[in-house]
Amino acid sequence: MAQKILLKNINVPGINTFEVYRQYGGYAAVEKALKTMSADDVVEEVKKSGLRGRGGAGFPTGMKWSFLAKPEGVPRYLVCNADESEPGTFKDRYLMTHTPHTLIEGMIVSSFALGANTSYIYVRGEMMPQIRILEKAIAEAKNAGFLGKNILGTGYDLEIYVQPGGGAYICGEETALLESLEGKRGNPRIKPPFPAIAGLYGCPTVVNNVESIAAVSWIVNNGGDEYAKIGIGRSTGTKLISASGNINKPGVYEIELGLSVEEFIYSDEYCGGIANGKRLKAVVAGGSSVPILPANLILKLSNGQPRLMSYESLAEGGFATGTMLGSGGFIVMDEDACIVRNTWNFSRFYHHESCGQCSPCREGTGWMEKVLHRIEYGHGKMSDIDLLVDVSKKIEGNTICPLGDAAAWPVASAIRHFRDEFEWHVNNPQAAMDGNYGLANY
Ligand code: NAD
Ligand code: SF4
Repeated sequence: MAQKILLKNINVPGINTFEVYRQYGGYAAVEKALKTMSADDVVEEVKKSGLRGRGGAGFPTGMKWSFLAKPEGVPRYLVCNADESEPGTFKDRYLMTHTPHTLIEGMIVSSFALGANTSYIYVRGEMMPQIRILEKAIAEAKNAGFLGKNILGTGYDLEIYVQPGGGAYICGEETALLESLEGKRGNPRIKPPFPAIAGLYGCPTVVNNVESIAAVSWIVNNGGDEYAKIGIGRSTGTKLISASGNINKPGVYEIELGLSVEEFIYSDEYCGGIANGKRLKAVVAGGSSVPILPANLILKLSNGQPRLMSYESLAEGGFATGTMLGSGGFIVMDEDACIVRNTWNFSRFYHHESCGQCSPCREGTGWMEKVLHRIEYGHGKMSDIDLLVDVSKKIEGNTICPLGDAAAWPVASAIRHFRDEFEWHVNNPQAAMDGNYGLANY
């Protein structure tokens, strides 16, 4: 049985309450950190753990923390990014719903490590039930003396506030999130400066994903070295994967990094295989912002070895034959899935969510959506396929924030791996319009 860290007690009745969470060892990390460790000790353990940002970028958490500027007399902030909006990604919502104290405990320990006395959890605005759940959990922790003034008599003060998000995908980009938290329109800022230097209200700020913060308590309790023993290579620890699409058992799974993709898809412990006995066609492994891979490439590396659920293995082969772990939004498509329709759907999303600050993203996402729409609906030309590749290249790397790349990569990779399906749509306009797509038809 794989090691569980975040979801270990997820099925314990009442684990969402302070009382039961505490009975199962909850808040021990707060006691240990505040009473027996210095802030630097906690940072050191997180560095040793090798924990990498679980929101999607995979940046080493301990390193990010050590970049935090500490000018005299200037407040520092921890901001939890709970604006989970990546298509195919629902792991943070799951964690906050079922075990909110895992996040609150991680917030307290992390805030202590960073020297923050005020911290925020910026929750996607649509997640009202989770906002209520977190507010209740914070009140419970405060009543028990784990939040507020002079926590556990240690002299450390902390308040945590829950802020509903602005209802836009782009508010999950860390600098857009900070703008939104400051009460402004959620437009991404140009980086550098990174938030670690100039973040919320211009003060040093760490922005971490829900899952990253939640993992910190286990690291404090067990030590960074123990965490680093789990996983594979530089992909240490466990990862929550949101599994969806044409599988028998969609849901949120905690895996040890290094599990083979094949086992994840086909074993009964996880996805339970492709639904209705169909064949696997493609996988988008890390939320919609990463390249799509066909079945042969997601299951095996070019040297014939199994591909693993790790940052390195999923990226093996670069964009020619690889992809990214991203947010762990694992979308599985069977033989009947239409890649053109799926790519158009993703494009429509990015066009809608572009904040409009930079021309390549604002205009390019719209052009890609229109061209994909006409191919999908039987009005495409053969030259449209290369036009899409050209537009995606003009967006990639030329924008303020990663939304531009995120919009370009799914289109470029779909054409790279499934060009024949795009050509089939152009050559068979009526069939494409009738929805006769899928492996059997081209
Ligand atoms: P990034 O690589 O620019 O930054 C990663 C983190 O490291 C940031 O917090 C950044 O401030 C920090 N950082 C990087 N270099 C630094 C330096 N020199 N000094 C100080 N700090 C530094 O990526 P990003 O924009 O934070 O995230 C992009 C990812 O987000 C994408 O890969 C995508 O998968 C993911 N994403 C997730 C969701 C979701 O719902 N979970 C939604 C959209 C996108
Ligand atoms: Fe806005 Fe797109 Fe530019 Fe990001 S890349 S700042 S979303 S226009």
